[in-house]
Amino acid sequence: MSLEPCKVCGTLNATETEICLSCGYPTQGRKRPAIFRWVAIALIICFTLPLLSGVINWLLLQLKPNSPNPNQPQVSFRQSDLISQLKTQSSANCANN
Ligand SMILES: [Zn+2]
Repeated sequence: MSLEPCKVCGTLNATETEICLSCGYPTQGRKRPAIFRWVAIALIICFTLPLLSGVINWLLLQLKPNSPNPNQPQVSFRQSDLISQLKTQSSANCANN
């Protein structure tokens, strides 16, 4: 009777036991491929990646609430203000003359 560490939790189990006494992993079912673990990881990634992208987009929108559209910088507003000021000044000059 020899002991063998469980591949999942590391608990030493007798080689005669079919199931790990700690986590219930079938120690005799060594032929079971590790694809189940990879499938679980893939499912977790598939569920977490869209969630993470959504959270990142939300955070970016929260960090930059004043400039949602980069094609319309605030310089255009300043230029329109300057143009309006120039028009008022030119009209005032004409009125003075
Ligand atoms: Zn175990």
